[in-house]
Amino acid sequence: MFYSLTKISRNVKLGPMPASTSARATCPSSCPLKGKGGCYAEYGPMSIFWGKVDRGEVGGNFDTFVKEVEQLPRRQMWRYAQAGDLPGEGDSIDREQMTRLAKANRGRPVIAFTHKPATVENIETLRQARDLGFSVNLSANNVGHADELVKHGLNVVVVLPTEYAREKEETNTEYRARLNSLPKHTPDGNRIAVCPATYTETNCLQCGACAKSGDRSAIIGFPAHGTKKKQVSQMATASG
Ligand code: SF4
Repeated sequence: MFYSLTKISRNVKLGPMPASTSARATCPSSCPLKGKGGCYAEYGPMSIFWGKVDRGEVGGNFDTFVKEVEQLPRRQMWRYAQAGDLPGEGDSIDREQMTRLAKANRGRPVIAFTHKPATVENIETLRQARDLGFSVNLSANNVGHADELVKHGLNVVVVLPTEYAREKEETNTEYRARLNSLPKHTPDGNRIAVCPATYTETNCLQCGACAKSGDRSAIIGFPAHGTKKKQVSQMATASG
């Protein structure tokens, strides 16, 4: 399986930071977005680039990737897997590779998410990675799922129904007023904070909330958006 590290991403939501891409084979079969139109990386330029990584036309093997991570500037924030998932095929996380990656990173702030299932083995691997300074956000499909994932003691992000998204014609003030009328907590009372890059000019480099390695006080929420927002929003509205 191949990995690529782009030195400076041109993704405006990320900001100018390094961003890696993992082969499609790292994606879990259990991901509800996969092949159903909800995964943004399956469309447009990202999809074309992803295909090149899959075929080994850009990037290299895991050893090469780890060396590139080691050579990043000491305090560089970066995005792990703008497409793809953590090392390991399908639903599993390769513990040996994850540990090598975490050690190579040496505590640099990293924005990483996973859709791999919260199995006992995977959670243990992610706790070890977190203790080595590589904190991975567990991706929840809806707020009920987020409440389950939070119990593992790792940071969690969640897809929110589309009404949490700022409408094109809405001013920020109008949006914030409307947002105030929507639930800000999960059914179990965990606080939800909507990602600021979804409604302001902020980017990840300026925000950095998802790169926080310790306990975060909130679950970061991403409103369903884009051409497939209806399907994604249905998933986000499900109860668990
Ligand atoms: S919450 Fe911050 S770091 Fe996380 S995705 Fe949004 S802008 Fe990026």
